[in-house]
Amino acid sequence: MRSFTTFHLQYAHRFFRFEGEAQYLHGHTGTLTIEVEESINPGVNMVFPCNEIRKTAWNILQNFDHALILREDDPLLEPILKVYEAQGIRNGSPRNTMKGPAFKTELATAYPECRVVVTKESMTVEGMIKIVHALLKDKLNIVKLTFTSGDNAASAEFPPTASYCRCPRCGVALDEKGYCPKCGYHSGEHCR
Ligand SMILES: [Zn+2]
Ligand SMILES: [Zn+2]
Repeated sequence: MRSFTTFHLQYAHRFFRFEGEAQYLHGHTGTLTIEVEESINPGVNMVFPCNEIRKTAWNILQNFDHALILREDDPLLEPILKVYEAQGIRNGSPRNTMKGPAFKTELATAYPECRVVVTKESMTVEGMIKIVHALLKDKLNIVKLTFTSGDNAASAEFPPTASYCRCPRCGVALDEKGYCPKCGYHSGEHCR
């Protein structure tokens, strides 16, 4: 069965070298739906508690929220960082607290201290799906991602990967040694 959860991301971007309105800086509320496939965990009768998918994914995804997302060759990047620097917010600010961990993949690099994500390709809805899948595929058994932004929408399906052992009491994924990170339950066998 599938369990899914939806996130809203507020971001600014543009499509550098694209012939159209989208070459100008603009903003969106993007909606991302993550569908995770697992067996029903017999203890709790759930695939996964949705707040668990949310916690795992949001930790990374908050890097895209209230963020500026620009392609690595976009000449806007440097002047914007200069302004942030001059204003003293380039390396963080006491009010910039909803930060995810910095990440770097082949497709995107996050700079959470200044809420910038630099991408290899333009951040279209299709591009976002590729970026999110690369970031989360080893953390969740993702079978479908859907991303909508303005009038644009895209989705992609992925074959299920290895199943995760979950705690029969709280439903969260057990660690490699079979321990529940939440309640300390131990399955007596190695998981994954
Ligand atoms: Zn746009
Ligand atoms: Zn537990």
